[in-house]
Amino acid sequence: MHIVVCIKQVPDSAQIRVHPVTNTIMRQGVPAIVNPYDLFSLEEALRLKDEHGGRVTVITMGPPQADAALRKCISFGADDAILVTDRAFAGADTLATSFALASAITRIHETHAVDVVFAGKQTIDGDTAQVGPGVAKRLNLQLLTYISKIRALDVVSKTIEVERRAEGGVEVLRTQLPCLITMLEGTNEMRFATMDNMFRAARYKVQPWDRVAAGIEDVSKIGLKGSPTVVSKVFAPQPRATRAQMIQTDGDDPRDLSITLVSRIFTQHQKIAESLGHRADR
Ligand SMILES: Cc1cc2nc3c(=O)[nH]c(=O)nc-3n(C[C@H](O)[C@H](O)[C@H](O)COP(=O)(O)OP(=O)(O)OC[C@H]3O[C@@H](n4cnc5c(N)ncnc54)[C@H](O)[C@@H]3O)c2cc1C
Repeated sequence: MHIVVCIKQVPDSAQIRVHPVTNTIMRQGVPAIVNPYDLFSLEEALRLKDEHGGRVTVITMGPPQADAALRKCISFGADDAILVTDRAFAGADTLATSFALASAITRIHETHAVDVVFAGKQTIDGDTAQVGPGVAKRLNLQLLTYISKIRALDVVSKTIEVERRAEGGVEVLRTQLPCLITMLEGTNEMRFATMDNMFRAARYKVQPWDRVAAGIEDVSKIGLKGSPTVVSKVFAPQPRATRAQMIQTDGDDPRDLSITLVSRIFTQHQKIAESLGHRADR
């Protein structure tokens, strides 16, 4: 079985700052990490490989520095890593990104048939959650999103059964391979890198693929040319005016605290008090 996992290198959002004048994100000096949502997909791919055998290939489209993110995935146990990188990809929106990734995955498939593609649910920087479904559409793959569990995979009949978190419950879905899966966060925990894999990652030569290697002839579909999205404004949300309040009560009785809280809510939010009063009158 051959599994491809799409990962993206993102700035560590815990350390991101917004420029006070231009309101643009200041990326300089911010450490880059593997998009945390992608690790749930990578772990699931590695778990399937442990169970059924095969290979896991990680792929990213990004600048040369994204090599580090791929190497990290090798240290967790991925077998191969491909960095789709070319100046022609600069300025890509989600449409152009999914086109470039789909083209590269088609190329991978030509040499080693792909059974499952994984993507993260979303990224922590762009946050659109469009790339996974975009790749699935372009490659005509069955799309399984918000997956909380892979129940069964049959490599002979090429079928997969999964649990999907849906509103008000869990759906059980069964479909044919090949498919594209986006894993829900919190569904597994990334394993520790073993010493062997860490050494392998340090020595591993990530395969850089430019536009031609990724099988892309039509440059109007990649980079800025292939990106119809226009960002008209970027702004930081206004800080909230209200601050948290510390409420103290006499004694330890939780009923005192409840009464204090309810009376505070009623005095501060007259509308709630009035609405409850109306209901009580009816
Ligand atoms: C007009 C415009 C111009 C832009 N120009 C640039 C630019 O010059 N440089 C730049 O870095 N960004 C640029 N971006 C942002 C870029 O479009 C997004 O980073 C990219 O398309 C992914 O979107 P996302 O982060 O919302 O991913 P999502 O759709 O939220 O990601 C879902 C999943 O798809 C996969 N995925 C997403 N992106 C990649 C990737 N690159 N490689 C592999 N897998 C991936 C991951 O598994 C991820 O978890 C631009 C965006 C716009 C709208």
